[in-house]
Amino acid sequence: MVGVKAGSGRLALHVAALIDGTGAPPLPDALITIEGDMIRSAGPAPPKAAGSRAGPGPELVTFDTGVAVPGFVDAHVHFTLFADGRSYEAMAAEPDAMMAFAAARNALTHLRAGVTTARDNGSRNRLGFALKQAIDRGLVAGPGLLVSGRPVTPPGGHFHWCNGIADGPDEIRQAVKSLAADGADHIKIMASGGGTRGTDPARATYTVPELTCAADAAHQLGLPTTAHCRASESMRRAIEAGLDCMEHGEFIAPDGTRPFDPGLAARLVDSGMYLSPTLQANGWDTILRLRAVREARDLAPDEERVLAAAEQDTQTSLDQVSRLTDMGLGPRIVAGTDAGCFDFSFGHIDYCLELMVAAGMSPMQALVASTSVAATACGVGDQVGTIQVGKRADIVILAANPLEDIRAVSRVLAVYKDGELVT
Ligand SMILES: [Zn+2]
Repeated sequence: MVGVKAGSGRLALHVAALIDGTGAPPLPDALITIEGDMIRSAGPAPPKAAGSRAGPGPELVTFDTGVAVPGFVDAHVHFTLFADGRSYEAMAAEPDAMMAFAAARNALTHLRAGVTTARDNGSRNRLGFALKQAIDRGLVAGPGLLVSGRPVTPPGGHFHWCNGIADGPDEIRQAVKSLAADGADHIKIMASGGGTRGTDPARATYTVPELTCAADAAHQLGLPTTAHCRASESMRRAIEAGLDCMEHGEFIAPDGTRPFDPGLAARLVDSGMYLSPTLQANGWDTILRLRAVREARDLAPDEERVLAAAEQDTQTSLDQVSRLTDMGLGPRIVAGTDAGCFDFSFGHIDYCLELMVAAGMSPMQALVASTSVAATACGVGDQVGTIQVGKRADIVILAANPLEDIRAVSRVLAVYKDGELVT
């Protein structure tokens, strides 16, 4: 990379190729110009752009082999969690102040990996709202943030320690109104149990009327909704209730097995709902860590068991997403890392794209799912998610073409957020 940061706010990026995030084929030898925090033009580089800068004009930065893609949109993070392998109970024992420090670190880590927009799907008390304000005010460096604040959950339900407990339609309606008043960008509701002790991922929580109440109350306030759904029954209810997005979608039966249900899958495809399958949330970080350990020494029996379980769970999710894609859900599958929970690391949106490709999506589908589709699912598709005139200047320069090898997403040369180089 050669060049200087645009002090004036006028900047031109000359790249070997531009992939704009709409699904259009890459444009070789492209020039993107930025005015302030917006994209002013994006197209073929005029012949003189390749040479040295002459006269007044935008500061030119040339990436000889760099490929420009839109800043990534991660539809599912938990910035206030620690991603250090502990249980939710251990993390929840930390004070809010410690969660805030962790969030500052996590937001920067994610931004440096190319995530310029993130949707936080659950944090305690007012932490999510404060983090969003801190980023907006420049106190903390991080992606543009959309926050749910406290997830709506039944007494003792998944993430109950965030203090968003609501039972029955009246309390749910009140919870949604309170969250909106606090500054929520969307409503997250826990439609099944999860990894929180005392909850069961194989069981649905709220009834269809309760979920419908949440959806209606949110929509009246102009807020989109997303539902944590691991159990098949919770998926069924969330679809019926008219919620906008489904997280995980693991098809867990009451006995804990994960049989794919083609009828339920067809209803999901027909529903118009988005699915954020959080493919790396089956223990991908654990898998990578233990596979590396296995190179050096034999794994202990416990480690073997943990690795085998994570590999099997991940394969099940890949197979399910593959079938959903074949059935036509592909254009509504969105990227989400679930970073923060357990050992799900920040700074690895690349894992998400890699696993989408392992599930049979094309590299272009994975790229679109993690840019324009995710932006639309998060309600900000008019502002971010593509490299087009009038969009925010959120741009990532990769060292190689991700359409040739999706692992190029891990090779970030530069990140621009709102037209500013992230350092
Ligand atoms: Zn989550």
